[in-house]
Amino acid sequence: APHGHYESGFYSSKNDIYDERRLTLMSDLRKALRLNQPELHYQPKFSLATGRVTGIEALIRWHHPERGWVSPEEFIPLAEKTGVIKHLTRWVVDQALNDLKSLHATDPELTVSVNISARDLVSPELKGLFETRMKRYQLSPDQIIVELTETAAMDDPEKGLEALEALAQIGLKISIDDFGAGYSSLSYLKKLPASEIKLDRALLQDIDTSDSARMIVETAISMGHGLGFQVVAEGVESGQAARLLHRMGADLLQGYWLCRPKSLSELEQWLRVERKATRLQRLY
Ligand code: C2E
Ligand code: MG
Ligand code: MG
Ligand code: MG
Repeated sequence: APHGHYESGFYSSKNDIYDERRLTLMSDLRKALRLNQPELHYQPKFSLATGRVTGIEALIRWHHPERGWVSPEEFIPLAEKTGVIKHLTRWVVDQALNDLKSLHATDPELTVSVNISARDLVSPELKGLFETRMKRYQLSPDQIIVELTETAAMDDPEKGLEALEALAQIGLKISIDDFGAGYSSLSYLKKLPASEIKLDRALLQDIDTSDSARMIVETAISMGHGLGFQVVAEGVESGQAARLLHRMGADLLQGYWLCRPKSLSELEQWLRVERKATRLQRLY
């Protein structure tokens, strides 16, 4: 919650101060997007079968001129509420596909995952946006993964499903982000045209110490496989967790233990030097 940024004495009961901060934050964000000021960082995703990086996830980073770094956990939900998300998504898709194109010069197999808010999914422009950018950067749709993030329950699940189907129809891969947290429902899950689920990092907490935590993750993995999904575990912070997930049959891993999100130039450097994840090799 964004409230943590305030000294309690200052914040006290002044909701209007809070609202004012939110409003200026959103107009600052729109301006920043127009000026191309945010950046995308990228976090690799590793195959447990090969130990190799299969793709990268785009994560937005915004350094506000006065407030410093503002977390996406704060500004994404606000952008969803105020409609700024539409501009943000357009900027993110354009930037991520452009960056993927340049990475393909050395890693032609790499995929890019883009986070799309459930709230923005139904935007009538989304499909056309992907189509024009794929054409512009000469990318094929199977190189692009749309991560559906459920920061809020979908307003209209039927329309959401239709929108997802339209994206899957043009060949984009669909991933269900943060599975096991928040609003994901099992009855909805079986209808989604997805090829991947990402287990929320909250599920991984305590898997090295708690039998029930392990049981839940194991069950989620086999359910995912039963439904035909690739299963990604995100938020892997230790070798112990990685070993357990390997044994439990997860397909892909992502997390600080393997690689933190990096700027494009850091990533290019890192890919050149460390294409193969030496840490994963120790699991076999
Ligand atoms: P997410 O898509 O589930 O992304 C994973 C988040 O966990 C990222 O936080 C990442 O930096 C962080 N993370 C990765 N590995 C680890 C780990 O081992 N331990 C821990 N504790 N954290 C790890 P980030 O970048 O702050 O993003 C937070 C959320 O904001 C994302 O969650 C996503 O829902 C949203 N978001 C980020 N970028 C975008 C974007 O471009 N568009 C939209 N719509 N949402 C975005
Ligand atoms: Mg994600
Ligand atoms: Mg996630
Ligand atoms: Mg998340």
